[in-house]
Amino acid sequence: AGEIQASDVDTLKVHMPLCMEHLHDELRREKHTRHGGRMQYGLFLKGMGLSLEQALIFWQMAFEKITPEQFNKNYAYNVRHTYGMEGKRTDYTPYSCKSIIMNNAPGSGDHHGCPFRHFSAPNLRAQLAAHNVDEFDTDDIIHKVQQRHYQIACTRYYEVTRAKMVGISPENVKGGLSDSATGSMIASQEVIEHPNQFFEQSYLLMK
Ligand code: SF4
Repeated sequence: AGEIQASDVDTLKVHMPLCMEHLHDELRREKHTRHGGRMQYGLFLKGMGLSLEQALIFWQMAFEKITPEQFNKNYAYNVRHTYGMEGKRTDYTPYSCKSIIMNNAPGSGDHHGCPFRHFSAPNLRAQLAAHNVDEFDTDDIIHKVQQRHYQIACTRYYEVTRAKMVGISPENVKGGLSDSATGSMIASQEVIEHPNQFFEQSYLLMK
């Protein structure tokens, strides 16, 4: 822990699940994130190994529209709090998929939550298309979402996109039938239970 620098986060986005990528993109677009998003994304970054010191740098630089003084006054406490340095000194752990899916549904203007659970079908389709998921796999993922198997949908998204990243056909990871070592490495992983699990698996796969 503590090895990742604030300046590494943009590069590491490639390994993030859709929920965190969405929060990151919206943070860069709006130069701000509301409380629910700061908690979900901030704890995820902590789980990735961003130290408190680097987290303060990351959030202060991200909130470009306010001065460092305003940041210190209004947001620094909250960042320190998530690292257990304020208030009751609870050392908060990053949210699991189950918690993100079940609790604290996003309202309008919020960007936290799970895209598989909280996006409309057209919006989710657009996100998948933007990640080069083909029509067949998109239909498969949407079908799993309709059955309320959100984490299985995310796992399928992981398999399809990571297969492309390592340059093997997604066909080779369907059902784990691949002979290729890489194919079975992607397909044999378990259902995604945690955004940090998604990140770590992806990171290790591409190393
Ligand atoms: Fe994120 Fe989990 Fe939803 Fe995947 S299933 S997008 S990791 S909350």
